[in-house]
Amino acid sequence: MIAPPLTDFSRLCVHTITTKPWSIEQAASHYSAAGVRGVTVWRQWLEGRNIAAVRRLLADNGLTVVSLCRGGFFPSVDAAARQTAIDDNLRAIDEAAELGAPLLVLVCGADPRQPLVVSRQQIADGIRAVVDHARASGVKLGIEPLHPMYADTRSAINTLRQANDMCDALSDPQLGVVVDVYHLWWDPELMDQILRCGRARRLLAFHVSDWRTPTEDLLNDRGLMGEGCIPLRQIRGWVEEQGFDGFIEVEIFSNRYWATDQQDFLEKIKRAYLEHV
Ligand code: ZN
Repeated sequence: MIAPPLTDFSRLCVHTITTKPWSIEQAASHYSAAGVRGVTVWRQWLEGRNIAAVRRLLADNGLTVVSLCRGGFFPSVDAAARQTAIDDNLRAIDEAAELGAPLLVLVCGADPRQPLVVSRQQIADGIRAVVDHARASGVKLGIEPLHPMYADTRSAINTLRQANDMCDALSDPQLGVVVDVYHLWWDPELMDQILRCGRARRLLAFHVSDWRTPTEDLLNDRGLMGEGCIPLRQIRGWVEEQGFDGFIEVEIFSNRYWATDQQDFLEKIKRAYLEHV
């Protein structure tokens, strides 16, 4: 394969949460001016907005909508809450379709008041309840395994093996997985499970950031690529060997970067993308 030229940002996607201080208008114009070609929109940026107008705004700025973040959060000890979650996921699928996002990312959820195996069963039930609507809407569903430090409340699916197992069990081509290096870099099975994704053609998205030492906040201290210990190039290599040629999505939750000038931060992202991913 021929390496892309060093100024090629054609596969660079930025999540709106990465530049959290920016409105969708600011994100659209600044990403576009920076040469970024992909955007993953977090649902907060759609609240109270005309989604068709946001879709036009992004298209007018030359941005491809890569995915909508996020659906999921299916488990609860409370049956009414599980139904509320299903209803919310149906709405998220509608929003993705209206936005022109081909993928809804699922942060699957967990409830610390019950065993993880029960939460996993409720995740399967929740996905089953919405997958036909996703198919009818032309939206894929991507299970994103989360680092086990989030297993109490954010996701009972913590390894790529578990995500693959869930996809095998549900056996629906509308369902796939999202590989996020922040959550999965430590896993000794990662390469084998990425291969398994490739064989099943279910690798839908690839998220990058880095793991800082020490990590000072479990949620909002992700590093810029190159600042930490994640073998980004190696993991990207495994993903691309499986035929993945989609966007490389920069998803950084960082109190430290959100407090800085976002234009400077975006330039740092571009440089880190070229040098470390
Ligand atoms: Zn992610």
